[in-house]
Amino acid sequence: MKVFKFGGTSVGSIENMNQVKNIITDGNKKVVVLSAMSGTTNQLLAIAHDIEHNFPNEAIDKINKLHETYFTTIHKLIQNKALSEDVKNYVSGIFNLLVSCTYETFSKTLENKIVAQGELLSTYMFNSYLKQEGIASALLPALNFMRIDSFNEPDMAYIEKHFQLTIQKTENAQIYITQGFICMDSNDSISNLQRGGSDYTATIIGAAIKAEEVQIWTDIDGMHNNDPRYVENTKPISNLSFDEAAELAYFGAKILHPQTVTPVRVDGIPIRLKNTMNPEAFGTLISNETSIHGVKAIAAKDNITAIKIKSARMLQAHGFLKKVFEIFETYTTAIDMITTSEVAVSLTIDDDTNLEKIVAELEKIATIEVDKNQSIVCLVGHSVVKHQDTYKLFQILQDVKIRMISYGGSNNNISLLIDTKDKILTLQKLNFYLFELVTL
Ligand code: ADP
Ligand code: ASP
Ligand code: MG
Repeated sequence: MKVFKFGGTSVGSIENMNQVKNIITDGNKKVVVLSAMSGTTNQLLAIAHDIEHNFPNEAIDKINKLHETYFTTIHKLIQNKALSEDVKNYVSGIFNLLVSCTYETFSKTLENKIVAQGELLSTYMFNSYLKQEGIASALLPALNFMRIDSFNEPDMAYIEKHFQLTIQKTENAQIYITQGFICMDSNDSISNLQRGGSDYTATIIGAAIKAEEVQIWTDIDGMHNNDPRYVENTKPISNLSFDEAAELAYFGAKILHPQTVTPVRVDGIPIRLKNTMNPEAFGTLISNETSIHGVKAIAAKDNITAIKIKSARMLQAHGFLKKVFEIFETYTTAIDMITTSEVAVSLTIDDDTNLEKIVAELEKIATIEVDKNQSIVCLVGHSVVKHQDTYKLFQILQDVKIRMISYGGSNNNISLLIDTKDKILTLQKLNFYLFELVTL
């Protein structure tokens, strides 16, 4: 069986939902993972934000507006009277629940409950639409099988077992619809897989059922060689290895949630990226195959904090780095980039939740400098570090202030740390000289 995932834009309008219906009705049984309609998750987060800051009236105003938008969509999507009544009842139930949340005290658990409603809405509506069109579909409630453990990792044994149990409980269908993004946590509270998490849901399910392939359908024809939001003339890449795709996703290519590749790479289950609005385009195939050498794609990750740790005691001392790493370990903070010299270590983190505590601990053993608003620009390609053109980087970026370079940590990745304000220009310059074949 294959797993198909459709993102917010793909289920964001009547026309696109119709297009999704055409794509999934190819005669093969499949699991279809859906995101919330585009914009809904942001709206739900804004409602949670109003509740957190004691603006219940603003929250109720937003809830009512969203309710109206959904009723307009249902009106256009579902003509069958009985089905339409059923969907309206379900949707009203959700909006009543949201209103009741405005009387509750804010907590992260409440926010997670609020934000989960987007995927519950889209899947119920879409499943009813398929029923109206005479398609044998069944809704699989993701909260019955999707679970993360206390380290926020998918609990694969639980998911495998409960996915099968959930499927057995539903009528035998050709198409199984389920919610992306949402899950239960180890305390049995509603949680989620972080923003963009529906991609991750798709590959987790793909791994759980040993799928033949996972297809991620979005609003662009595959992974491009640079970020199309900032750079013109980007091009789709037809093939990527799991390693290359994992680096690009982790280092900011928004088309994939950072963890998307992880669940399926061990079993070699291919991921195909496709465009819902242009299904004929090849898109991108992510698999075990490795192809051409050199820079294939560039991505950038924002909100990076750089920490410089300077200590005269580091000179010829062993055990210093161990102490530094232990501090990050204590505050469960992952380090992305690291460079060292005789008297200083520079490293970067993207989760600054515990920054103050980390800095306070580090200050006991060294002098600390912190720079916020940094971005990692990452150049990815099989054996990129060995490629003969790599030297060009220094020529291309001679006017850009590079704060750190990570070269050779992996054969497939060169990372540069720059000020976020220089990011767009850096991406554009690299595109121009590396991909548009202009010689320096
Ligand atoms: P969905 O809602 O379908 O999950 P996303 O908005 O999460 O879609 O991801 C698709 C978007 O990712 C594209 O519209 C594009 O703007 C952005 N994007 C950023 N970097 C890349 C890249 N390297 N290749 C393709 N798309 C990218
Ligand atoms: N709806 C969620 C979000 O907007 C998950 C997703 O779209 O993948 O982040
Ligand atoms: Mg996405």
